[in-house]
Amino acid sequence: MTPIDNLATLLSKLPGLGPRSARRAVLHLFKNKEKLFQPLIVALQQTLYSIKICEICGNLDTSSPCNICSDQRRPHDQICVVEEVADLWAIERSGLFKGMYHVLGGTLSAMDGRGPDQLGIPKLFKRAEGLKEVILATNATVDGQTTAFYITEQLKPLNIPVTRIAYGIPVGGELDYLDEGTLGAALKSRQSM
Ligand SMILES: [Zn+2]
Repeated sequence: MTPIDNLATLLSKLPGLGPRSARRAVLHLFKNKEKLFQPLIVALQQTLYSIKICEICGNLDTSSPCNICSDQRRPHDQICVVEEVADLWAIERSGLFKGMYHVLGGTLSAMDGRGPDQLGIPKLFKRAEGLKEVILATNATVDGQTTAFYITEQLKPLNIPVTRIAYGIPVGGELDYLDEGTLGAALKSRQSM
């Protein structure tokens, strides 16, 4: 395999890129050697060796605790629960949420053998005391809903207000694919569980 084919094959394994768009990406990189190709190589290496999983919320960042968890200007008594880091980043892009996050790393799923312990759920309960609000922003899929209901039930004895993001999320919809406006509306109109 030539280096070019190799690069195209590797790129085609990225989410959202098929073989065709991977080849187009390779061409685009060659055409923009200084502006894009070189900086991309540097950025890939820097990230590879500096990326960490936040010990508190599960976010990916270059430090642990991450920038969000260590930001004292953000309220620490409001936690938004998401399935994946991509969802956290999507909500951050909307700019409408200023509190803390908790990344589960998936959903409860009997079929795939994922129980509360496989997700960050016990860790969430440890963070729960004294919270003003837990916002459940799991996806509007069956597993996402099941996970939201499970967390709600478990948090009830602690008397913490639990809300669920609402309007604008299509059933079966995944957060990461929503535009910022829709996601913002869903967050604003969250409802009590
Ligand atoms: Zn964090």
